[in-house]
Amino acid sequence: MKTLFLTLLAGYIIFRSVMIYLSYKGKKTPEKETLALRYFTPEEIRKGEEYAKESFGLSVLQRAVDFVFPFVFFFLAAKPLSWSVHEFLKGMGIYLVTLQVIIFLAVYFICSFLVTLPFRFHFGFTLEHKFGFSNMTQKEWFLYTLKQFAVGTVITSVIICAAYYIFRRPTPFLWLIPVVLLAFEFIITFLYPYLILPLFYKKSAFEDEKYARVMREVAEKAGVKVSKIFQINESKYSKHTNAFFTGFGPEKSIYIFDTLIKTNTPEQVASVVAHEIGHWKNNHVLKNILLSFAGSVLITWMVYFTYSACGNVAGYPYFRLFDGSALTISDIGSLPFISAILTIFSFWLSPIENIVSRKFEVTADTYEIGMGGHPEVYIQSMVQLAKDNRSFLFPHPIVTFWYASHPPILDRVKMGENFNKEKK
Ligand SMILES: [Zn+2]
Repeated sequence: MKTLFLTLLAGYIIFRSVMIYLSYKGKKTPEKETLALRYFTPEEIRKGEEYAKESFGLSVLQRAVDFVFPFVFFFLAAKPLSWSVHEFLKGMGIYLVTLQVIIFLAVYFICSFLVTLPFRFHFGFTLEHKFGFSNMTQKEWFLYTLKQFAVGTVITSVIICAAYYIFRRPTPFLWLIPVVLLAFEFIITFLYPYLILPLFYKKSAFEDEKYARVMREVAEKAGVKVSKIFQINESKYSKHTNAFFTGFGPEKSIYIFDTLIKTNTPEQVASVVAHEIGHWKNNHVLKNILLSFAGSVLITWMVYFTYSACGNVAGYPYFRLFDGSALTISDIGSLPFISAILTIFSFWLSPIENIVSRKFEVTADTYEIGMGGHPEVYIQSMVQLAKDNRSFLFPHPIVTFWYASHPPILDRVKMGENFNKEKK
């Protein structure tokens, strides 16, 4: 397992670098260029390229830091930190393990946040302003980022605390970790519109009758009962567009970003809604959750066996630090290392996840076109999506294969054209 892990690690570094290079280069074919020029001006195409390639060097550095930081923290700081937290609490007469875990996690996440803050600021603020996406002032951006960090940290910490308790038990209990993750995924998917969404957005009843009518028509045609249509104020933050569907059971709510109706016609918005209905009709949310359950079963075992490769102390696998001392998997100090291992394993599993995701998207697109009956509207909404988000139109096929959760825009446009031909 040790050899396998080292191979995966070396492969990760080499392969990831190749991917970074390919994603920078992209791949233009004469055929793709002709197709692009039918719908986009050369200026729009260039803007998309610029947005994708701007600050490329910095994004490489960011990825390196993201990856290296947990290792450095693990080998140099994890043990002293977990020890001082332990001593500090003991000094105060507190023996609560949960509290130890929470303090350790808080320090680790804050350090990691501070290390990555300059990158977040560059990509989330400077660049977004340069390309005209962001509507936030510096102060608003900081508050928003802090809030995002806080919410993310709380959710991850709860999950880690649960996983940590299982890791402290003997091996047979390991199977509980994927089950716990599955439970959290269900809870978060279900509660997202009630718990997390209101922290960032104001939602209001959708008022524009012209838009609401076509959306309801599409839903009715698809046999979906729409209880409410909401509008959420993304325009407070940016010009990026989106729409989604929530609700288990037969009654659904539609959420529309207010930015979407600024650039799209009612028919285009209805087309986007039809796409979301396509996902729902084909049970994609449920299938995705089950798929990630299978993934987490695999990854839990991989993490455990990677750790076991070094040996066991009193039944717990351990890893040696730079000073020669050992840190067992049941020590909270192991967490940064586990998170680094997770990055490597997820990288190798991402093509599988993305192949499935792209397949789902094609199914939803097909449903969308069939529902609307007008491939032109579908093409227009795709083109508008690309323009609104300054999409890079010529991604390298290998990069798409590995990373893309959606098919490239031009492939989707081509699909619309093919439907159009068939119709005629
Ligand atoms: Zn989709």
